Amino acid sequence: MRNDIQEVLFTEQEIQEKVAELGRQITADYAGKNLLILCVLKGAFIFVSDLVKKIDLKLDIDFMAVSSYGNATKSSGVVKIVKDLDAPVEGRDILIVEDIIDSGLTLSYLIDVLERRNAHSVKVVTMFDKPHRRTVGLEADYKGFLIPDAFIVGYGLDYAEKYRNLPFVGVLKPEVYSGHA
Ligand code: 5GP
Ligand code: MG
Ligand code: MG
Repeated sequence: MRNDIQEVLFTEQEIQEKVAELGRQITADYAGKNLLILCVLKGAFIFVSDLVKKIDLKLDIDFMAVSSYGNATKSSGVVKIVKDLDAPVEGRDILIVEDIIDSGLTLSYLIDVLERRNAHSVKVVTMFDKPHRRTVGLEADYKGFLIPDAFIVGYGLDYAEKYRNLPFVGVLKPEVYSGHA
């Protein structure tokens, strides 16, 4: 699997340090609130599990799965809820946990849904951010790392459902996309 990686962008240690920093900020900002962590599956599953261990608050965790990408590396622009939350969110302070924000389409759709369900507040933490690729005006409240215009894998992020379990984040070798790996 590591042989398919052309370049490591962020090491496991760099990622863990960033997660701890985000956890400290979130802990301070949500003190005294009834925080609901909303993990957006599948990409954010590793990030959320590391992050919640660094948030020193009594909180709830729920999961939502949306699809917008399929196996391709570009957004289809179509977002659909594949798995919805277990509990109502009316009046809740929600922190959406995302793996990466690219066009922002997925997220703006989600925020819309949560606001229509009368959440008290909706904020976003993303591990990775590609701000120059945005097609909707939207910014995360907490951000890990800025990503250049590259398709990254690892730390939850996949290419055709593979590479999610890499503990670091990297760029695939071009031959992997062309099917010669
Ligand atoms: P958006 O709706 O913001 O365009 O898309 C967000 C989703 O696209 C992410 O949750 C992720 O599934 C996928 N995505 C965007 N950029 C990348 C990338 O560089 N690598 C991977 N593996 N997925 C990406
Ligand atoms: Mg995502
Ligand atoms: Mg994906």
